[in-house]
Amino acid sequence: MPLEIPSTQLNDGQSMPQVGLGVYKMDDDQAQVAVLAAIRAGYRHIDTAVLYHNETGVGRGVRDAIAEGLVTREDLFITTKVWNDMQSADNTRKSLQESLDRMQLEYVDLALAHWPAPQLGTYIECWQTLLEAKDRGLIRSAGVSNFFPEALDELEEATGQRPVCNQIEMHPCWSQAEQREDNARRGIVSVGWSPLGRGRQFEMSPIPELAEKYGKTPAQIVLRWHIELGNVVIPKTTNPSRMVENASIFDFALTPEETAAITALDSADGLQGGDPRTFTGV
Ligand code: NAD
Repeated sequence: MPLEIPSTQLNDGQSMPQVGLGVYKMDDDQAQVAVLAAIRAGYRHIDTAVLYHNETGVGRGVRDAIAEGLVTREDLFITTKVWNDMQSADNTRKSLQESLDRMQLEYVDLALAHWPAPQLGTYIECWQTLLEAKDRGLIRSAGVSNFFPEALDELEEATGQRPVCNQIEMHPCWSQAEQREDNARRGIVSVGWSPLGRGRQFEMSPIPELAEKYGKTPAQIVLRWHIELGNVVIPKTTNPSRMVENASIFDFALTPEETAAITALDSADGLQGGDPRTFTGV
């Protein structure tokens, strides 16, 4: 039986499955196989980006799953992202159309501005163009990634509209209390990228002890911790049994004290990726 993965309501009326498959660093062939395996397991949410150079493979995996009769397009939630050097209005339009063409899709469920890259000065244009694409039916929801409060303020000042989600680096050593609270106050869902901390925190107490207590793996404890905080997660794996493992987190719960003990692993040097206020990636 495929897993049942619950969904979170978004502020525009759509909903997003709480566990999705991240496909960063997969090539097209790996992404095709992984997407089909994930959908077989019960996943409905796939997270890609132009930067990952695997949208063609993601689209193939989606078509394979539909051809197998596992799902219809409407059952799926496909996210892509506009890379930082493509965020002018014209380039955002071009980037979205190229993503759709590569995936052979008529729409994506969610498109994100990948980073604010404030030094490039184009994220407001990108946001305005994502909203235009939503009106044109090319994307169902518009969101952002790696945004900080002042940048979120500017989007709202420019358009009166808020992103449905802010996808940010989040794991026990970088638990993002302030940005999570800021997102929640605005009605924006926090989506955790590198939700497993790329596996580097599995030995940190109390994660192994809680794994022992609940008869779960350290990865499941970390992902359940995200769920207790209200996050959506997009763990990456090409391994079908780990896909099942990573989504089998809805049959137990951590106590508030256990959740707080994991959050206490937060560390000033826990950031593994770029600093959103300075990262441009170009
Ligand atoms: P992650 O925290 O998902 O860790 C992935 C690593 O953990 C892989 O090496 C994988 O083999 C291992 N792993 C997965 N499941 C496991 C399990 N059950 N047990 C043991 N090891 C396991 O890190 P990530 O790939 O950096 O992030 C996940 C996704 O987030 C990406 O694929 C991508 O979709 C997204 N992402 C977004 C941004 C952004 O700027 N928006 C940046 C990075 C990643």
